[in-house]
Amino acid sequence: MSEVKFFYGDAVPLEMHKVRIVQKLNLLPIEQRQEAMEKAGYNTFLLQNPDVFMDMLTDSGVNAMSDKQQAAMMQADDSYAGSETFTRLDEKVREIFDTEYFLPLHQGRACENLLSKLFVKPDTIVPMNYHFTTSKAHIVINGGKVEEIFIDEALKINSEHPFKGNMDIDKLKALIAINGAEKISYVRMEAGTNLIGGQPFSLENLQEVRQVCDDHGLMIVLDASLLADNLYFIKEREEQCKEMTIKEITRAISNLCDITYFSARKLGNGRGGGICTNNKEAYMKIRELIPLYEGFLTYGGMSVREMEAITVGLEETMDENMINQAPQFIAYMTNELQKRGVPVITPPGGLGCHLDASAFLDHLPQTKYPAGALAAALYIASGIRGMERGTLSEQRDEDGIEELAHMELVRLAMPRRVFTLSQIKYAIDRITWLYENRRLIGGLKFVEEPNVLRFFFGTLTTDSNWPDALVDKYRQDLGKVCNLFC
Ligand SMILES: *Cc1c(COP(=O)(O)O)cnc(C)c1O
Repeated sequence: MSEVKFFYGDAVPLEMHKVRIVQKLNLLPIEQRQEAMEKAGYNTFLLQNPDVFMDMLTDSGVNAMSDKQQAAMMQADDSYAGSETFTRLDEKVREIFDTEYFLPLHQGRACENLLSKLFVKPDTIVPMNYHFTTSKAHIVINGGKVEEIFIDEALKINSEHPFKGNMDIDKLKALIAINGAEKISYVRMEAGTNLIGGQPFSLENLQEVRQVCDDHGLMIVLDASLLADNLYFIKEREEQCKEMTIKEITRAISNLCDITYFSARKLGNGRGGGICTNNKEAYMKIRELIPLYEGFLTYGGMSVREMEAITVGLEETMDENMINQAPQFIAYMTNELQKRGVPVITPPGGLGCHLDASAFLDHLPQTKYPAGALAAALYIASGIRGMERGTLSEQRDEDGIEELAHMELVRLAMPRRVFTLSQIKYAIDRITWLYENRRLIGGLKFVEEPNVLRFFFGTLTTDSNWPDALVDKYRQDLGKVCNLFC
């Protein structure tokens, strides 16, 4: 997709690929969607895929693959050790990130598990631009503490700041001054900050973080899972990178970090993960744990077919015309919703379009999980599955007290090259309808609440029979039976 000029009418994002394999979708009638949501305990993670029309839960492992990725999967070299497939992946990762060493792991959180086990000691701190659910859980389980030192602009729902994912350098310095560098395990930078709307950091900011870390002998660990979007935004928005290729920007970022890890469910459009570094000592320490937790060093828990797909996918990620597809679709959706008055996070980021549930449902307190309620209501009204990214995605503190999230968001992920523009228009239509009927939406409460990462499996119920009211209104406004049997 490129920025092609249109002669008649508004410019729309134009796909630079064609669809050659399709998967049939179901759109259930709203009454059945209501039933499915109730059965899923008002948790969109627990819905069954045949009940879902547009799956915007995540971009993890569900991006469309290219013909070249599929072709590469057919040539995988299946051997436990010494696999040629691994050699190809190893060479590609080290080329792209410009590092000496690469270790394969089965997905992003597996990298977080080993890195936290090795480098997070009890009562140490991990400063970061923003946390991600699994990153934080692994740090906390190893006795560490997460300190988020984002810039003030990061939590503003509407902003023009091009790099809301930046770390606040003064806060980093102050944190080190107060606690001492020896109390800090490492500094974590997350590309395309997942939980605050897929917002990027700038290369300049990373250069500044590097300076501070050098002054205090601290390591930078980069979470590159959402690097593709971040690369696109840097190329678009950062003066010093205008003339650089995507690969040059990738290497410049990697060279500023001591350890880079990624989920290849996102980066590389496959299913897997890995850690790369130039630090031999760190490499040796991590390497020891791979056969224990992941698998032998030439597959790390991944299938050889997926490794082939990742190798090709990583190379394709270096193509600006490939990585701009999702951000441009997200910008289209966000801008159209904003025109209709729906509260969304701006500027549009990567990963997905983010609804601001606090403003959308400003009649609900955070303890009634407005983002969870909105995700449930949206599924009922549209068959679209989004993800709660608010208080439900946090966990209670040691005393059992709710940790209220900074933001209550419903994330509508944009799996790369999966949806067409008319499907996005359907989503915009139903979200707008829901916004006009937002007062009908009530809160949620837990029925069964797991202690760790409760948003995955927890089940909830409504605090009134608001879903009935929503379905009644939908029938009044959209008729008994529409063309699509919905
Ligand atoms: C998805 C994600 C992870 C975890 O990766 P998995 O492959 O799902 O385990 C870590 N960090 C960020 C920023 C992510 O988006």
